[in-house]
Amino acid sequence: MAETNCASAAVQGMPPTLDAILAVGTNMGNRVENIDDAVRRLEADGSIIVVARSKLYRTAPWGVTDQDWFVNACVGVQTALSPHELLKRCQAIENDMGRVRTRHWGPRVIDVDILAIRDRQICDPDLVVPHPFIAERAFVVVPLKDVAPALTIGGKTLDDMIEALDASDVTPLQ
Ligand code: ADP
Ligand code: MG
Repeated sequence: MAETNCASAAVQGMPPTLDAILAVGTNMGNRVENIDDAVRRLEADGSIIVVARSKLYRTAPWGVTDQDWFVNACVGVQTALSPHELLKRCQAIENDMGRVRTRHWGPRVIDVDILAIRDRQICDPDLVVPHPFIAERAFVVVPLKDVAPALTIGGKTLDDMIEALDASDVTPLQ
């Protein structure tokens, strides 16, 4: 993200069993394997435990639309890592899996974003939580609802957000 949106919104309704929710997405290579690989890497050193997984969704590219379709998912985790330690882990996984930053919103082997950390609101230059674009992206909100159905952000329910979006290009993968 080039700029941060620091009208950071209040979060309510995080499942009490979760410390954070992450979004994972990929549109290169074996997408389902990439998601599984990222989840394995999240759990590799024991400091992050994945306790909830959304369905996998096939989604149309967003922003830059002349690229291949994505698989997106959300995971709910337990961790004692600080928010910045968690961000570093997400970025290390992206780098280790060979993500090459070409163009903004361009093709990627894996993207791991932090959507929410309990009811924390963070507005640092390199970390904004809750993630500021959740409500604009059906490919985030739909899987997010699988792991945190009662979540509200800035007073909006996930159903409010889905209603305001075109979610027809977000379909469960079988
Ligand atoms: P995008 O996820 O929007 O496609 P990137 O993955 O390239 O873009 O992330 C760009 C930057 O976003 C990262 O360098 C990171 O510091 C910043 N960032 C800010 N808030 C978050 C967040 N909640 N989760 C992940 N990255 C974030
Ligand atoms: Mg990202």
